[in-house]
Formats: sequence, C-alpha cells, structure tokens
Amino acid sequence: MDCCRTWFAFLAAEVIQQSVDSCEKDCPACMDGLYSPLLHFHNMRNLREKLDLYYYRVISEMDISELFNKFILHFGWLTLDNDEFVAIGQHFVRFSTPDAIYFGKYITKQNDFALYGSSGEVTEVQHPAKTIKAKRTKKNTISHDGVPGASTSN
Ligand SMILES: [Zn+2]
Repeated sequence: MDCCRTWFAFLAAEVIQQSVDSCEKDCPACMDGLYSPLLHFHNMRNLREKLDLYYYRVISEMDISELFNKFILHFGWLTLDNDEFVAIGQHFVRFSTPDAIYFGKYITKQNDFALYGSSGEVTEVQHPAKTIKAKRTKKNTISHDGVPGASTSN
C-alpha cells in the first residue's frame, strides 16, 4: 500500500465525514428535535452538495498534525516522516477542491475497509484473506441521505 496515496485517501475520508457531520450540526430540524426526514436540511443535500457547502470551512478547522498521528496509528506506519507528511497533507487539502475530493477516486472499493475498518493489523497487505474475513466495524457511516441501498458510485 502506497503511504502517500493512502494519506490522501485518509484526508479525503476525513473531509467527507466532517462535511457530512457539519451539515447535520447545522440542521435546524435536528436542533428542534423534529422527526420527519422531510424537514431535515441534511436529507435534502447529497454528498457532493455537502462537500460544496462545507469543504472550505472543514479544512480551515482541520488539524493536519493531529490527523497524521491518527493516520500512523491506524495503519501502524509509525516511522513515516512527520514533518514531510504533515506538509504534504496541508498542501493536499489547500489545493484540493470539493470536486477534486468527490471525483478524485482517493477512496476506492480496494481501500475502503483499510480506511474505515478498525485500526491495527487488518491493513497488512501480506494477509489479504484475513483482511477480508475480519469483521467490519462501522465508524461514523457516511449518510447517503437516508436512502437505503443508496450507492456512492454515481
Ligand atoms: Zn436534521
């Protein structure tokens, strides 16, 4: 697994998740505790719109150093050069755009589990069979506007 590509994917996943979360935090219906999905702002926006709305706010508040620490712990890549990767990460989010993140194919079917699964040895490339069999732990699932079976592939 390429460390740098995986670092970009990790950052993309973080930006996407924080954009989704921000959209829910800004939802007046959530604040008012309303029940109908029809009244919830975040249900009216698709993922691309959420990125458009929140990308720049999210990256302005992101702590790349802190994310790098999470990244190396998650993947067990403790020897990566901190300063170099933090600098690369800062450039990556600064020069990316919502569309670049959305269409950039940083997150793929192949790295989805490594990014979103639990941290530790599950990402070892030498044991692909083990990785596939490992029980998936869902962490902050990305909302697809509450549509069951909605796909991210479009
Ligand atoms: Zn809501």
